[in-house]
Amino acid sequence: MYLGPEGVIAKKEEYFVPCINHFYQNPPEFVKGEMQYLYDSTGKKYLDFYAGVSVMNCGHSNPAIINPVMNQIQNLQHVCNIYLTENGVNLAEQLAAVTPGQLKRTFFVNSGTEANEGALLMAQLYTGAHEFIALDLGLHGRTQLTMSLTGIGMWRTTDTPNGGIHFAKNPYFYRDGRHEEHQSQEAFEDECIADVERVIRRRTSGKIAAMIVEPIQGNAGIVTPTPGYFKKLKALLEKHGILLIVDEVQTGFGRSGKMFAIENFGVVPDIMTVAKALGNGFPIGAYITTDEIAAAFTRPSASTLGGNPVSTAAGMAVLTYLQEAKLLENAQARGAQLQAGLKELQKRHALIGDVRGLGLMVGAELVTSREALTPAATEVDEILEKMKDRGILVGKNGENRNVLAMQPPLVITEEDVVFFLQNLDEVLSEVAN
Ligand code: PMP
Repeated sequence: MYLGPEGVIAKKEEYFVPCINHFYQNPPEFVKGEMQYLYDSTGKKYLDFYAGVSVMNCGHSNPAIINPVMNQIQNLQHVCNIYLTENGVNLAEQLAAVTPGQLKRTFFVNSGTEANEGALLMAQLYTGAHEFIALDLGLHGRTQLTMSLTGIGMWRTTDTPNGGIHFAKNPYFYRDGRHEEHQSQEAFEDECIADVERVIRRRTSGKIAAMIVEPIQGNAGIVTPTPGYFKKLKALLEKHGILLIVDEVQTGFGRSGKMFAIENFGVVPDIMTVAKALGNGFPIGAYITTDEIAAAFTRPSASTLGGNPVSTAAGMAVLTYLQEAKLLENAQARGAQLQAGLKELQKRHALIGDVRGLGLMVGAELVTSREALTPAATEVDEILEKMKDRGILVGKNGENRNVLAMQPPLVITEEDVVFFLQNLDEVLSEVAN
């Protein structure tokens, strides 16, 4: 029986745990995807500028991804992971070739949350220490530990009992770096690093396993660090024997114009976590570390479905397609076009307070006052609704829900960006009146 959007909402309300929310007053029901486009149950076509939060980097139902996956499903879907199969080891080898520095050894799981849990455990095993540091406004998952390390209130469902967790100031220049005393990005950056040092010295026992960070904070509102932040952070952590875990769950696989976003900052983490875009819609996650760190984890352990033949077939197809379709280059070119266009709009639309990001991970923070930085959250909701009515899906995030999030599939064209900007221009005029 055809449910339609109302029917889906009614069943969600009856049968799901009621923590689900929607972006739209009238959410469409999607029934088909085709590269950068989605189609709803009425046949209406949408340009997708959110890609399921940076998942569908290679596009929806892309034959280059789904054909090898369908072949794999028909041949062999799953065996107990103590039996031998080839896809997982081949994907691990390919990941070692594209990750920076000495990152080489992979542990496969099924989601970003699990990847982070595993990375945190790995850091504890290697260092013998148990405390952690995370950044304000970061998001790392939904389990007790990863939620405890999430520094954004709206994603912390309960007061979390985990001890030994500390937060440091995140490098959010637009909101926190504009005061008299540190007008330059560099001075602000130094202040953020000094805060990490203060946390280490004053709040911890000194036995800290790792600091976990997103290279660009996604849910925080595409908060993009100042250029030198990560180099200074890595040096500080090394001085104190603390591992750096970089959470690339939302930023990995070409999103930022590099394979991994941390590469934009010239830093190699000790452990990297990945998920989302690695499977282009198939569930997969992983943490990747060095020979030396991995050597600390020898007791038997494996995820039942982590690294299964089907998800790893998707992962290999993603790595091949990113390269063959030159999607990193496209993310750089289209991202530059998008940011330049948004900065033009910023001159004419007072609502746009800040435009930031790297590659095709772009945020526009909307404010009703550029002096007071008053969050324009209701305006963001109106824009989302009006853009959706025009057949364009755009995301929102940020502590105050006032950041437009533009994270399209990396396959978008120059014309798509022009179309997006034209519509956003018109919608911003409508909303301002
Ligand atoms: N880390 C980051 C940076 C994320 O954006 C997310 C999901 N939004 C997660 C971890 C959790 O990933 P998952 O939902 O796959 O568990």
